[in-house]
Amino acid sequence: MELSTLLTQDIYIEDERWDLQNKGLSWHEIEAQLNSKYRESSKKRLFRCKCCNATTFLVLSESKACCFKHESKDECAGSRNYTTYVSATNRNEHPKHRVGRAIIKDQLLINLTRHGAVIKEGYLSKTELKFVPDFIVEWPGDETWTIDYVTGTRSDQYQRYLRNKQKAYAENGYKAYFLFDSSQFARHPDKDAIALSPGEQGSLSFLSRDSSRESLIREIHNRVGIDYLVQDPKLTLKEFQVQKLLYVSDSFEGTLFFVSQLQTKPDQPSKREIPDGWYQVIGGEKSISLDALFLYNKNMNGFYWEFLNLSDVERDQIIQTVNDRYQLAQRETEERELQLKIARQKQQQEQEQQAKAEREWNYVHYQDQIYVESKSKKMAFNPYQVKELTPYIKVVELMKRSEVLKSSPGFLERIRECEEDFQVFRETGIMPDRTPPLISMMMNAMDIKEIPS
Ligand SMILES: [Zn+2]
Repeated sequence: MELSTLLTQDIYIEDERWDLQNKGLSWHEIEAQLNSKYRESSKKRLFRCKCCNATTFLVLSESKACCFKHESKDECAGSRNYTTYVSATNRNEHPKHRVGRAIIKDQLLINLTRHGAVIKEGYLSKTELKFVPDFIVEWPGDETWTIDYVTGTRSDQYQRYLRNKQKAYAENGYKAYFLFDSSQFARHPDKDAIALSPGEQGSLSFLSRDSSRESLIREIHNRVGIDYLVQDPKLTLKEFQVQKLLYVSDSFEGTLFFVSQLQTKPDQPSKREIPDGWYQVIGGEKSISLDALFLYNKNMNGFYWEFLNLSDVERDQIIQTVNDRYQLAQRETEERELQLKIARQKQQQEQEQQAKAEREWNYVHYQDQIYVESKSKKMAFNPYQVKELTPYIKVVELMKRSEVLKSSPGFLERIRECEEDFQVFRETGIMPDRTPPLISMMMNAMDIKEIPS
């Protein structure tokens, strides 16, 4: 492993190599320096394994990590954990992971040691681990924390690894802290929504939920409905749980988000699950300085940022936003109802005009035919039929016996008008203008195609 004890001092050989490399030394210069510093101690069998106290020997390598190897082939749990850890981190994590680890370790030592915690490299666990955390924090009693700085990619393989790691931590009863590299942060450009990778989602369950925000959500739900908390009308909150997620920048400035999972509304036509685990940000994000990031809250036995309750100002802001959306929605509903009312009135007017137009029949002469015409119907008459009374009388007599009269008693009045007109024709030889369309209407109603002769 990278670590071995010399007398009472912990020697992190790969860290020393990185320091020298960052100062611009070549590999040969680095090798020479480390050899002059430690080679003789190694030959005199003075290095001891931090885990099992067995003798270890210095191994310097340009292509792999510099490390200490056990003499015996029966390596200890720590040594096997180290192999597991290095193969996972080398394969998955970004080079900045090494820098971040050093910062985290310093901060844990400064902030937690004086409260009685023991800070360990994860691979120094006395038991062999399938998943090795960056650091283990052991508290008096049984409580164990794990700290992981996640700089890895979003590849499916890595996300599966993270989920399995989280499962193993949960089974061991660890309280796990995951600090996610902020370059992985994915926010929807227009909405208060962020997308969490499976590994990010899996980290949420290790921290206590935020009761101050959860009770506000319930209050809003009871008052105006939860829809106004979510900006997108197609989405709603899956549950009213508020969880915490911490991202850190390269300089370990933290940003804490309070999030609640989103889903599509049940009444949306598309009931597909929304992809990528979208979460609604509840309230604003919180910036946490490097100095505050690892501050220990003794009363709560956690870091201070875990217990940041909603302030009155933030609470008022959320309520204000919700109220604004609610009122806007109310205004939009009223406006929609008004538009609908206007549209209905317009439609009614049009229907009335059409019905009126249908009542107003016109004669049109065309190619020796006279047409009675309305907006919707046309019917042909032969000129002689206009001059002869008999076919008209036949139609009226048919109408008097027709079933149509039962469903449309208005025709009684039309029959009376026709009979008046027939009298006019008998007396003057002139057929009033309204008679042919009345006859036509009756034929139409009775579905008679031709005037019976
Ligand atoms: Zn050992």
